[in-house]
Amino acid sequence: MTREKSYQAARGTQDILPEEQPYWRYIEGAASEVSRRYGYQRIDTPLFEDTALFSRSAGEYTDIVQKEMYTFDDRGGNSLTLKPEGTPAVCRAYLQHGMANLPQPVRLYYISPIFRYDRPQAGRYRQHYQFGAEAIGEGDPILDAEVIAMAWHFYKTLGLNDITLQLNSIGCRACRPGYLAALADYYAAYTARLCPDCRTRLEKNTLRLLDCKQPACQEIAQAAPRYADHLCPACDEHFTSLQKYLKLLGIPFQLNHRLVRGLDYYTRTVFEVQPREEGGQSTLGGGGRYDDLIEELGGKPTPAIGFAAGIERIILNLKKAGVSVPAPPAPRVFIACLGEAARDEGLRLAARLREAGVSAVAAAGNKSLKAQLRQANSLGTPFAVIIGEDEVKAGTAVLRDMAAATQESLPLGELPRRLAV
Ligand code: AMP
Repeated sequence: MTREKSYQAARGTQDILPEEQPYWRYIEGAASEVSRRYGYQRIDTPLFEDTALFSRSAGEYTDIVQKEMYTFDDRGGNSLTLKPEGTPAVCRAYLQHGMANLPQPVRLYYISPIFRYDRPQAGRYRQHYQFGAEAIGEGDPILDAEVIAMAWHFYKTLGLNDITLQLNSIGCRACRPGYLAALADYYAAYTARLCPDCRTRLEKNTLRLLDCKQPACQEIAQAAPRYADHLCPACDEHFTSLQKYLKLLGIPFQLNHRLVRGLDYYTRTVFEVQPREEGGQSTLGGGGRYDDLIEELGGKPTPAIGFAAGIERIILNLKKAGVSVPAPPAPRVFIACLGEAARDEGLRLAARLREAGVSAVAAAGNKSLKAQLRQANSLGTPFAVIIGEDEVKAGTAVLRDMAAATQESLPLGELPRRLAV
């Protein structure tokens, strides 16, 4: 006999069980509330898009495109990819629906699953969720400050206080080549000491040399030329204004010359929110400007900025910080029945209660009264209604207050009013 396969969720994915749901409701609530306060409207885009949208956006030599995309051909032979990040899809929607004709900037937010073929570990999954916001159509640094403030405000409302904001500018098309040349010059002296990935980066993706996690490479990065010293006047002014606005808002930040982010489309402002203890190893969220992306996707030159927060990482940190989240209320009443006629009555009563807005769970299966009340206890319902043969005959029911362990007999018709909240 062959053993039946026992199915497990695919590696790097997880079920969100009922006991975890309060965290999700709590975070989604905070995300939509902070979006409302900042005037961001919700957008949902499909789970998959043309592969080219993502490979063109993120950059050919980024980890996401090289190693992490879930790409497949559909039955029509089109190459599609499960969303490995939110921004390109929102930009595609902005262009497709003519949002450039709306007053700019257009402020949008999303909560979406994200798929990356990452190496699974704590806080790193192959399907995770992000809350993200994008402000498209304006280059003013005051908008950078707005998006950063919104991210900061979001983590703070959640109750995450032990966090830092890391900030850098990685310039624009005009000053990038000069900086990359300075960086390559500096690194040329260290080639032998670099990890194999960094040797490739030196050729293909110089900026990413700065955020390699290998200790030896980190040491070399420490003394590397800083972009802040190579910004063109316009980028320098932008960065200076942003810092002024953040100070004005009272948002503390740390300049971090090694912060470059993992995607090629970023320009000027980049930022990350990190837990104070673990730092960049377990970033809670981040974002930046992407002033050239919409144009690369076929639109007119359109500056934009956004950020994305990883929801699972937030939950890990909420638990670590001992933040308690509101639990959903238990159903108000459990209906226990003894005998077939009582079951009919119970079914009718449950329907009436629900119509009156009262949450009711009716017993199913043939269990003893004791077993039924045990179930009411484990559900945590504040009340139980008990209907037996005598009650059916009298048109009544027993209403039991579970906490006080007191009970009274009432006409069935009175129960919806008595149990209304
Ligand atoms: P990114 O798009 O890489 O900037 O990611 C934004 C945020 O999503 C990160 O700061 C993390 O909090 C979270 N995140 C990214 N990748 C993963 C992953 N594989 N599993 C869980 N969370 C992730």
